[in-house]
Amino acid sequence: MEVQVSSQELVQDNRLLRCIQCGKCTGGCPVSTTSGLNVRQLLNEALLQPNLVFSPEGSELWQCTTCLTCSLRCPKGIKPLDVIIQIRGQLIESGRIQPTMRDALESVFLHGNPWGKPREKRTDWAADLQVKTAGVDAQLDLVYYVGCAAAYDPRVQKLAKAMVRVLGEAGVKFGLLGNEESCCGNEVRRMGEVGLFEELVESNCQLFKERGVRRLLTTSPHCFNVFKNEYSGFGGEICHYTQILWELIEEQRLSFSKELNWRVTYHDPCFLGKQNGIFDEPRWILEKIPGLELVEMDRNRERSLCCEGGGGRMWIEALIPQERLAEVRVKDAVDLEAEVLVTACPFCLLTLEDAVKATGNEERLRVLDLIEIVEAAI
Ligand code: SF4
Ligand code: SF4
Repeated sequence: MEVQVSSQELVQDNRLLRCIQCGKCTGGCPVSTTSGLNVRQLLNEALLQPNLVFSPEGSELWQCTTCLTCSLRCPKGIKPLDVIIQIRGQLIESGRIQPTMRDALESVFLHGNPWGKPREKRTDWAADLQVKTAGVDAQLDLVYYVGCAAAYDPRVQKLAKAMVRVLGEAGVKFGLLGNEESCCGNEVRRMGEVGLFEELVESNCQLFKERGVRRLLTTSPHCFNVFKNEYSGFGGEICHYTQILWELIEEQRLSFSKELNWRVTYHDPCFLGKQNGIFDEPRWILEKIPGLELVEMDRNRERSLCCEGGGGRMWIEALIPQERLAEVRVKDAVDLEAEVLVTACPFCLLTLEDAVKATGNEERLRVLDLIEIVEAAI
């Protein structure tokens, strides 16, 4: 069964009459050449036809990684990504989405995470660590919001453990939200599940208030983005961990005692760089590490290539066999003869590690998160 979406609503809500069909949105879209998704054409069809027709399970709209490039490049101030999210919302309402997506959303509703894991296991990763609980121990400098990937994925748990050690080393007084911490909703909103997203905003803001959160630190740029830009009810300060590390190094509370003689290159996560302008902090931290040589890939900072991990893509099957963008990214790093591909995002870490395996580069290239490098150097 196909779903009809009213073009009139899309045109009015997103002021699409301003579109001059210049194609800059499609030109910058990282998945346009591989997935059949053409944003310019989508908007043109919305302008010319009374209704648009989509197959909910198989629509190419699910291939969008929500990297935001189309919206940032439009000379007329149109936000094609908002159009995609609006249509995704109607596809979700039809109930005929891919089972992997449905399971992820159901799991967020039932257990507060998209990985199908029980809530009571959310802090198992910290069982052997002496970490305080926010709201129980007062006088904290900040609260560490771990996020679903770092709480449950065995690879990403290493980032959370590294964070605890680094913060402890710098003498930061911090606490966790414990098993009551819930999904931030960044991917939920981008998959189009607005109702569930609004519930998460309300319950998370309530939890932050109850626990007296004034400063919140995140592992993931996705959590950072949504708390900073889309949680109107939370009045506290939101920081990505790279900002906090920058501050700790500047204040000389964190220093490096080990030399890491590695040639590394840095992959800008879309939700940290393009979407929130944090390009300098990660590079500055890497440059402070003794022995480390930082080399840049051609596509860096604003022009960085998306790894395809965002916008719910972690739970969406790719429609067409294709060379994943993360594999292109790995080849870029190998061409530079980098030994380590560094990023600062759990989703980038997972997609890039998969790409290293898929391209048979395990012997030549390691993928590490910046917090792991910092931990290795202190
Ligand atoms: S960049 Fe903007 S004006 Fe140009 S085609 Fe895309 S939406 Fe239309
Ligand atoms: S958000 Fe990124 S992936 Fe999605 S349509 Fe825009 S440019 Fe393409």
